[in-house]
Amino acid sequence: MPELPEVETMVRQIRPHVRGAVLRRVVAHDPLLEDAAERVRVPTRVRALGRRGKYVLLRTEAQVVSVHLRMSGRLVWSSARPPEGRVRMEFVFSGGTVYFVDTRRLGMVEVGERFRPRLGREPFGELRWLPRALAGSRRPLKLWLMDQSRIAGLGNIYAAEACHRAGIDPRRPAGSLSRTEGARLARAIRDVLDEAIDEKGSTLRDGGYRDARGALGGFQFRMAVYGREGHPCPRCGTPVQRVVQGGRSTYLCPGCQS
Ligand SMILES: [Zn+2]
Repeated sequence: MPELPEVETMVRQIRPHVRGAVLRRVVAHDPLLEDAAERVRVPTRVRALGRRGKYVLLRTEAQVVSVHLRMSGRLVWSSARPPEGRVRMEFVFSGGTVYFVDTRRLGMVEVGERFRPRLGREPFGELRWLPRALAGSRRPLKLWLMDQSRIAGLGNIYAAEACHRAGIDPRRPAGSLSRTEGARLARAIRDVLDEAIDEKGSTLRDGGYRDARGALGGFQFRMAVYGREGHPCPRCGTPVQRVVQGGRSTYLCPGCQS
């Protein structure tokens, strides 16, 4: 958390404010980010604000500033006062400021001439490549889906929801899916992400996520399995089960995921 839909939501909300605008100053309020703040060459015009996987990418005239929000980070646009919470960094424009708020201080900011991390493909479009990419892998499907070098942007929540929607057990080896199942999974991933972006992301019970305007996401009310241990599956009524995979909770319905 936040995953692709949350990052995409913040980027879409902030983009109109900063695209083409002049970034005047970058201020760190956390020693861990001082180095990054000093390396941003200012003033500079913003060429683009985008997203790649779970990274926010701010492209200036000569650099790329990448922000990874990790567990509790978020970006807030404000033309008035700073938002509540622990502000670790400020990107100051003439018309307002993008605040990097991050209670747990796990988020990261990197500055360079290019964006370096090697990420897998984005989970949009027809995803015709997915069944072939899964072939031959013995890793449990959910862990495969969360591997950012395979497919970029999915985390614990949306990987579990996509597996449920596709009716596939997330513990199965990724390479065991038939072509039909692979195609069903591709559609499920795309639909889950589209819906979550429409809902402006998910705010879990910890309340950590807010969008760039400070509002709550809405997809948590549409989750079928994530965080719903013991509750009936909305498709078949079987109680949702929680299992641990790779040290993290996975939720699935033993009734309709096989
Ligand atoms: Zn079910």
